[in-house]
Amino acid sequence: MIIDSHNRKHNYLRISLTDNCNLRCFYCMPEEEYVFTPASQLMQADEILSLAKIFVAEGVDKIRLTGGEPLVRKDAAEIIRSLSKLPVSLTLTTNGTRLHEFVDVLKEANIHSLNISLDTLQADKFLLMTRRNQFQLVYDNIQLMIANGIKVKVNVVAMNGLNDNEINDFIEWTKETPIHIRFIEFMPFDGNKWTSNKVFTWQQILQRVEEKYTIQKLTDHANDTAKNYIVSGHAGTFAVISTMTSPFCSGCNRMRLTADGKMKNCLFSVEETDLLSALRKGEKILPLIQQSIGSKAKELGGQFKTDFTHLHAEDIHNRSMITIGG
Ligand code: SAM
Ligand code: SF4
Repeated sequence: MIIDSHNRKHNYLRISLTDNCNLRCFYCMPEEEYVFTPASQLMQADEILSLAKIFVAEGVDKIRLTGGEPLVRKDAAEIIRSLSKLPVSLTLTTNGTRLHEFVDVLKEANIHSLNISLDTLQADKFLLMTRRNQFQLVYDNIQLMIANGIKVKVNVVAMNGLNDNEINDFIEWTKETPIHIRFIEFMPFDGNKWTSNKVFTWQQILQRVEEKYTIQKLTDHANDTAKNYIVSGHAGTFAVISTMTSPFCSGCNRMRLTADGKMKNCLFSVEETDLLSALRKGEKILPLIQQSIGSKAKELGGQFKTDFTHLHAEDIHNRSMITIGG
């Protein structure tokens, strides 16, 4: 069991497969001339499996693959297949652009649920936000996954003045479609142009939805980062992930491995523990994991409080989201 000094049991590992991506979401990528990590510095497929096994032996029963875009990695299918043999619930977070190439692999790996990111339902805004003209592909792949019996959660980063006017378009999508929309409060990372006035908060999101719909609160699962709701009569549901206004740190069960094999005990942690170098040198990994978790801060990596209105993105010491793995 991996337990921290706040008595939180950690059974959920998020593994970033790469910091490479085929989209350029401005809130995630640090800057135009960002150089992706060379393949030799990334965890190789066998190293990912070796590290994952150590976590699983300590009680991890859920693994999420993320990135960058996990499915741009050439050996993504091999990694998915190998991890699916472990006694874990395996899933991934993806931008959806490559999913049509992975239908069989997902089935083979028994993946029943996916998080797919889509911040707008307008093709021109998608191009503006991601600098790639791929809206239709992502939208079609979401439908393809649903048609294949995979539960789809759509991640929408809610940003004031950018897509807040589409919140009810997303809610309307849940009317006939059994889809789960997750509005995520915009978070600050290195170089991501975050300012506090761009955060569209949980309260503002609910208010916007309630202007048009009658909503009911759903029961949240233990360790759930999302506050879940349904519009009465709709086939799908929605949720808000309120990292900025109401963090869910007290029930945190998550650990992260960056694509270059560094363990982060929190999305906002400053410290990183280099598991990959230790593995390559044949050193013991478990004490490093325990040490990292032992120093986990109570809340938000110890970096900020929930009154974020006076926060400046430069005050946060962290990598960009694309290099951490969302
Ligand atoms: N490429 C995949 C994708 O886009 O789903 C996986 C990696 S991405 C970093 C994981 C999630 O982090 C996405 O849902 C993305 O929208 C979210 N994300 C990235 N930057 C964010 C930010 N600054 N605030 C909130 N969510 C963010
Ligand atoms: Fe790529 Fe996902 Fe980041 Fe967008 S959010 S740039 S798709 S890693």
